[in-house]
Amino acid sequence: MQEPRTVGRLAPSPTGRLHVGHARSFLIAWWSVRAAGGRVVLRLEDLDRSRVRQEYVDGVLRDLEWLGLDWDGVPLSQYESRAALHAAAEDLLARGLAYPCVCTRREVQEAIAAPHAGDVNEVYPGTCRDRFASVQAARAESGREPALRFRVAPGVVEFDDLLHGPQRQDVASVVGDFPITSRDGQVAYQLAVVVDDARQGVNEVLRGDDLLDSTARQGLLQRALGLASPRWGHLGLVVDESGRRLAKRADDLSLERLRDEGVDPRRLVAWIADGFELGAGEPLPAEAWIARFRLPSQPESAIRFDRPELDALLSGRVPAARRSSGPRMS
Ligand code: GLU
Repeated sequence: MQEPRTVGRLAPSPTGRLHVGHARSFLIAWWSVRAAGGRVVLRLEDLDRSRVRQEYVDGVLRDLEWLGLDWDGVPLSQYESRAALHAAAEDLLARGLAYPCVCTRREVQEAIAAPHAGDVNEVYPGTCRDRFASVQAARAESGREPALRFRVAPGVVEFDDLLHGPQRQDVASVVGDFPITSRDGQVAYQLAVVVDDARQGVNEVLRGDDLLDSTARQGLLQRALGLASPRWGHLGLVVDESGRRLAKRADDLSLERLRDEGVDPRRLVAWIADGFELGAGEPLPAEAWIARFRLPSQPESAIRFDRPELDALLSGRVPAARRSSGPRMS
């Protein structure tokens, strides 16, 4: 049987400026799809209306073009097509796979006996599981607008990551039941990404290592909604000199700043290629990078981007890629 055509995606969030870390993940995802002769779709993850701004939307599109990335078809706005996301949440609720929850973040933390309450991996204690007969009952009995939480069955979720290999997560014991909508009625990232990857026909997801931990949750939602899982690959993050993710320094290391300062994007692309072991030490045309592209079969360690890289780019050179720690890819 013929393999289905690869469909990959660029899924930026227009809630701030894109930085070099985004450039790296987007470029590698795009190379991979183009190398397979597939389709690239663009999706604006613009559900968080308190943070989305039109200038960020414009900036994201300018940044992608500056990097030389293109896409097929019309971009999807999650916000404009949110009815499909709400329908999926309602469907899970109607089938008893999700339930109304009126807990505040603070109450969840207080209910957790663990000494490190507030850790990223706090487990929902199940306070509202089987507590209300319906959303209306939750609202009437608590006087609060409920969120919806996905009911996680016990058991281990397994998937194969293209770089990290076989992965296992017991979602029930490390995360617990997790929100699919918030108390202000917004569809949560975990559900939105799953529904929209399916709507856009995405079968390959390459993204940063920070989302590896979300993947088992997404697999559970796909199973519950009868959707196929894409193949996933999680890429090394870009960090600054002190090992922090660039998100914290998005403004001073943003793509917009590099562009404004006159950096040649082909040199930034050559630096990304070098860090992905495709390097030529000099800019090449996009087709040449695509022809060289291959995915490593091992996890990557993080890549540093800070003053030395910025100075090299500003003086018209291609910086050599520096790994932050851990083994280099073979
Ligand atoms: N919109 C997310 C981000 O910009 C990416 C989500 C994903 O790739 O699943 O970080």
